[in-house]
Amino acid sequence: LDWDEFTRLGAEIAEWGAAYHRSLPDRPVRAPLTPGAVAARFPKAPPEQGQGLDGVLAELDDKVVPGLTHWQHPRFFAYFPANATPASMLADFAASILAQQCMLWQTSPAGTEVETLMLDWLRQGLGLPEGFHGVIQDSASSATLAAVLVMRERALNWAGNQQGLPGQQRLRIYASDEVHTSVDRAIWVAGIGADNLVRIPTQGPLRAMDPVALKAQIANDRAAGYLPAGVVACTGGTGTGACDDLRAVLAVARAEGLYSHVDAAWAGAAMICPEFRDLWQGIEAADSLVLNPHKWMGVQFDFSAHYLKDPEPLVKTLAIQPEYLKTHGKDGFINYSEWSVPLGRRFRALKLWFVLRAYGLEGLRAVIRDHVRWSQALAEELRADPRFEIVTEPVLSLFTVALRGADDAAMIEYVNRVNEDGRIYVTQGRTGGRIVVRFSVGSFACTEADVQLAGQVLKQMAG
Ligand code: PLP
Repeated sequence: LDWDEFTRLGAEIAEWGAAYHRSLPDRPVRAPLTPGAVAARFPKAPPEQGQGLDGVLAELDDKVVPGLTHWQHPRFFAYFPANATPASMLADFAASILAQQCMLWQTSPAGTEVETLMLDWLRQGLGLPEGFHGVIQDSASSATLAAVLVMRERALNWAGNQQGLPGQQRLRIYASDEVHTSVDRAIWVAGIGADNLVRIPTQGPLRAMDPVALKAQIANDRAAGYLPAGVVACTGGTGTGACDDLRAVLAVARAEGLYSHVDAAWAGAAMICPEFRDLWQGIEAADSLVLNPHKWMGVQFDFSAHYLKDPEPLVKTLAIQPEYLKTHGKDGFINYSEWSVPLGRRFRALKLWFVLRAYGLEGLRAVIRDHVRWSQALAEELRADPRFEIVTEPVLSLFTVALRGADDAAMIEYVNRVNEDGRIYVTQGRTGGRIVVRFSVGSFACTEADVQLAGQVLKQMAG
């Protein structure tokens, strides 16, 4: 493939991409396929001879597109969104073309410095105080793993990496039931053991961790010979949007000498709107926090913003310097590979730069505010219909709803019926011991009419 062909196919792919996105409102959100149907369209063996790329877009349309769940569909109300704005697609294309490996400052001075700068722009947008240092992780799960590893190493006086965990005092980490399961996996991977993640009960309308129970559990654990190491709090839990009272929880963590991490993977993006910041009041006391611009800020996956009050414990936990990774003779820069588990890193900061340049903070705020307003209006509409029961009140643009009197089997059947219809896509969840519909507005392509149509579908399918 020469650069002339690259230019021609690059233009074609842009046209094809725009046509795909324009076609989305007319497509079912979720692929109506049986497992294996996509793979069956491909030859079983790889080509021996190169065929060039002419015709590849038609093949994409034929073989791949029918098997997609359309995450950028305007009526995608499932999970949390994974928005890719056109600006971030173009940035990702540019990043692919530049093909940087940004593991050290010297392997990409621009990649490193733009990352530092973009995360500082975002910090300002979020209203976080100066002194939080940002790094891009591939996912919130990776950021939480990094934080849990710091909790482990800090509590063990940096002996875990060297000596392993056998023979060490048993660690304990605390989170509420509402914190995403990425914390469980972080505990497993860190070798701390699932039993040593203690889930603290929640209370109140925001299902916030009970700080008194947290303090009592820490005291009991110390008395029983455990070594409390850290607290993982959440702003905007996955199931119902639960938010911990960060002031209270982080005060306990601080008083007990524990490292704290806040998972705001979804809701963090909304903190660019000052009126929503009540949900994470007290965040400035966190040692570490993560939010995913790849969810609700239009920054193409993957892009998790991980902020640290003090990067030093993280670097002490993760940095490794064989001779070839040493950067002799210069200082005053960051080697971001020392802040994350992977060594190699893409030039992801370009995506945030393009998105901020294209939308500005005001443009992004307008999108998020619309989603919150439309979602809350739909919750009110369903509340007014006696067939529905709002199970958890909207937190930002997420609420849960159930059919009044329906048992779990009937609810699963209802969710399947809604999704098989194809006009909208929602996810089921479990809260208060029952199956509910999680309704989350977040697609950048969504309009008010799409949310209204969702209301009609939910009602029609309720019978
Ligand atoms: N935390 C929360 C609150 C989430 O909702 C999710 C995913 O939806 C995650 C963490 C994991 O995010 P990631 O896919 O970036 O690891």
